Amino acid sequence: MGNLTFTMIKPRAVEQGFTGEIIQQITAAGFKIKAMKMTLLSKHDAERFYAVHAERPFFGSLVSFMSSGPIVAMMLEKDNAIADFRKLIGATDPSKAEEGTIRKKYAESVESNAVHGSDSDENAMIESNFFFADREKF
Ligand code: UDP
Ligand code: MG
Repeated sequence: MGNLTFTMIKPRAVEQGFTGEIIQQITAAGFKIKAMKMTLLSKHDAERFYAVHAERPFFGSLVSFMSSGPIVAMMLEKDNAIADFRKLIGATDPSKAEEGTIRKKYAESVESNAVHGSDSDENAMIESNFFFADREKF
C-alpha cells in the first residue's frame, strides 16, 4: 500500500468555517500535509475531477455543488494512507458514518459530505496531480 492520499474540504464545509477543525482532526490522526491550497473549481474542472461518475444520476448536481464555492485541497502522507483516511472520514452517506468521523461531524447530506478521500493509490496520484504542480508538493 502507498503512503499518500488526496482530500478536498468541500464547499459547504469551507463556507461554514470548518476548515480549521477538519485540518486539526486530520493532522491529529497522524497525516502529514504534503501540499495544500484553497481554490475554486469551475464546472468544467468539477466534471473532469468526477468524470468516473459522469453516468450517475447525481453527477449534474454534484458538479454544481463542487463548483459553488472554494474548496481546500490537500495531499496527505501516512502509512496505509488510503484506508486510514477513508476510516477517518467515514461512510459517503453521513447518516451511515461512524461516530467521531469527519463526515459524521461536519457533513449535511450525502452530496455535501464535508470531505473527499481518494479510493486508491493510483487515484491519489491522479487527483494530487490535478491540483498540484511538483513545486507545490513538499
Ligand atoms: N454523491 C452524491 N450522491 C450519491 C453518491 C455520491 O451526491 O448518491 C457524491 C458525494 O459528494 C460523494 C461523491 O459523490 O462524496 C463521490 O461519490 P463516491 O461514491 O465516490 O463517494 P466517496 O468516495 O466520496 O465516499
Ligand atoms: Mg469516491
